[in-house]
Amino acid sequence: MKNEFTCIVCPMSCVLTVEEQNGEITVLGNGCKRGKEFGKNEFINPKRMVTTTVKVTGSHLNRLPVISTEELPLDHLFAYMHELYQVVLEAPVEKGQIIIENIGGSGVDIVASRSLNQIESKKERA
Ligand code: SF4
Repeated sequence: MKNEFTCIVCPMSCVLTVEEQNGEITVLGNGCKRGKEFGKNEFINPKRMVTTTVKVTGSHLNRLPVISTEELPLDHLFAYMHELYQVVLEAPVEKGQIIIENIGGSGVDIVASRSLNQIESKKERA
């Protein structure tokens, strides 16, 4: 089996040709070692950091940016995004706060990328 990928590790965007023969994977076209590793991983089990926003109430913003603590398998991306779409948080939120623990049973958490304060009118009512 053979496939081509564009390496996204650095802006050089090398075009990698990855081939498997008798269980051995070879990578051609990489300009450096990092590209070889990327090509192998992309061929076997592509992963990406997940960054998106989730709904938040009680703050001056209505969306909170979030990020995965590690890369997640690309083939489960829609399931992760669906889980994130259901989230509705209440401010305040602290940067680094876990928003979803162990998303999709992956062992990876989703955390807040920034803090969001509660709006003043909400504070007074509390
Ligand atoms: S193979 Fe190396 S030089 Fe080429 S894009 Fe990937 S990281 Fe950059």
